Amino acid sequence: MGPPGVGKGTQATNLKDHYDIIHLSTGDILRAELSAETELGIRAKKYMDAGELVPDALLLTMMEQRLQQDDCERGYLLDGFPRTILQAEGLTKILTELGHQLDAAVSLYANEDELINRLILRGKTSGRSDDTEDVIKQRQKVYWDATAPLLDYYQKLNLLQKVDGLGTIPEITERIIEVLR
Ligand code: AMP
Repeated sequence: MGPPGVGKGTQATNLKDHYDIIHLSTGDILRAELSAETELGIRAKKYMDAGELVPDALLLTMMEQRLQQDDCERGYLLDGFPRTILQAEGLTKILTELGHQLDAAVSLYANEDELINRLILRGKTSGRSDDTEDVIKQRQKVYWDATAPLLDYYQKLNLLQKVDGLGTIPEITERIIEVLR
């Protein structure tokens, strides 16, 4: 978990290589659905373009199906999911049904102004239609309103690990691996 721009995707890529597990980014999955113009992609588009969350029910159905696939059996890293308390509760149910177990919930944190600047820079090269200043600010707000309460949720389950998200990419990867040992 972590606010937009904190480096979740970059770190997830490094960690998936380190642990040799798959990386499931709900943002990436949704963007793929969008470009393939599937029904899910078409329904998700207006929320994504506005920097709003796609409805919980869509995410839970999508992830319930995804986590049943064979490539999840050796473990996986979830990136950008869950993002609301309802999604976290839904995920807990799905994991119980599948006999899976969460090892940790990693929260990357960093100064908000720094993040907005990073995202504006990323927007110049990413081609992501939601990396514009207004949408970035909206996505930050959504993070603090809807997703930050998950920190408490995972703290209570004793799964939360907070990691400083400022530093070089390898430094941060090393910090995460350290808290997961
Ligand atoms: P991301 O790549 O994680 O920044 O996600 C990009 C956009 O996809 C978000 O702004 C949301 O519109 C949507 N999205 C990704 N993951 C979720 C989620 N777990 N719940 C709701 N919407 C999501």
